[in-house]
Amino acid sequence: MAEKITMGADGVLEVPAEPIIPFIEGDGTGVDIWPAAKLVLDAAAKKHGRTIAWREVLAGEKAFNETGSWLPEETVESFRDLLIGIKGPLTTPVGGGIRSLNVALRQLLDLYVCLRPVRWFAGVPSPVLHPELVDMVIFRENTEDVYAGYEVESGTPEAEKLASYLRDEMGWPIRESSGIGIKPISPMGSKRLVRAALNYALEHDRRSVTLVHKGNIQKFTEGAFRSWGYEVVREEFADRAVGWDDCDGEPGDRLLVKDTIADITLQQVLTRPSDFDVIATTNLNGDYLSDALAAQVGGIGIAPGANINYVTGHGVFEATHGTAPKYAGQDKVNPGSVLLSGVLMFEHLGWTDAAADIVKALEATIAEKIGTYDFARLMEGATEVKCSEFASAIVDRL
Ligand code: NAP
Repeated sequence: MAEKITMGADGVLEVPAEPIIPFIEGDGTGVDIWPAAKLVLDAAAKKHGRTIAWREVLAGEKAFNETGSWLPEETVESFRDLLIGIKGPLTTPVGGGIRSLNVALRQLLDLYVCLRPVRWFAGVPSPVLHPELVDMVIFRENTEDVYAGYEVESGTPEAEKLASYLRDEMGWPIRESSGIGIKPISPMGSKRLVRAALNYALEHDRRSVTLVHKGNIQKFTEGAFRSWGYEVVREEFADRAVGWDDCDGEPGDRLLVKDTIADITLQQVLTRPSDFDVIATTNLNGDYLSDALAAQVGGIGIAPGANINYVTGHGVFEATHGTAPKYAGQDKVNPGSVLLSGVLMFEHLGWTDAAADIVKALEATIAEKIGTYDFARLMEGATEVKCSEFASAIVDRL
């Protein structure tokens, strides 16, 4: 019987054998990648005696055409009520009231963690010599920082009012006609993000958590993020984790927590990737890092992502690329991103057996040099297959 996923009193998700999971097919290539991913997810679940009661909900162009709203209230309500859902890419409406549907969903459900695991699959073409050394999980803060949307435009009365206040009250010599943005970083926002990263690292037997920040320049925002991060380690995890300064880099059997400056991090993830494991960082740093790292493993078309609130249990798993409209409906693009987001969702639900099966089958498919156009064009001797054929090839190897 189809049932809802619920949050238990102990803060652990209660997942029935046949959970109801809402999905947004997505715009553009969503029509291609979603059915392909669903084929694999259903087959892997079935292998382990489970069924998913998928429930389609609308967002993006499909929603606008059918209901006149880009993000209908019913869709938000379904995600709110059913806790866990998955989505394809969505067109960002130009000139509408909503800046981005993805951002709107994150804010409405307070999905404070953007989770991006980055690893290499043997055989995937990569621009670096040792992509196999990249195995990182990024926890990007999802609700604060310059993404909070507090910006005023150059030349407007609002900008002039704010600039006058800053000049008169703070003594800051803001230049004429400046546009101004605000970067709020709070102890609550920083601590819950770092707490989630630590819990994940401990649960998944990871070696370290690195706090990535720009605290040398932005002391009271980025620097404070770092301090609050270490505070969480000392106050809540002292028996299981330890900060670098408190152990001289020798954590014993505890999890090591260290920190690096954002700019040097972007170099070091390239030059010594094995130094990094779980990364916890602020919103803008996390944005840059996730895309740079995905490129390093050749994974732009297959990088998975999730937006999660670990306290309420809400999670929206999503393809990280856009709608690639020029390929829409051609059964051509790689379904890997939304499929691996489904794998991430299975892991989050505790369906680790089915998740591991999909990863193995995907590895086997790529090892046989079977791939969609994006892989095939970079792999010597590859067999180029359609999006749906790639999914069938994975199912055959489950
Ligand atoms: P995009 O849709 O991600 O496409 C950029 C390029 O990435 C494509 O031309 C293609 O490269 C490659 N690509 C994308 N998806 C792929 C897949 N499944 N398999 C293989 N390659 C893939 O970015 P965009 O053109 O900048 O954005 C288009 C629309 O998507 C916009 O409306 C944007 O707002 C929206 N968007 C949505 C999300 C989201 O919903 N999460 C994220 C980003 C953008 P080649 O041309 O080299 O083949």
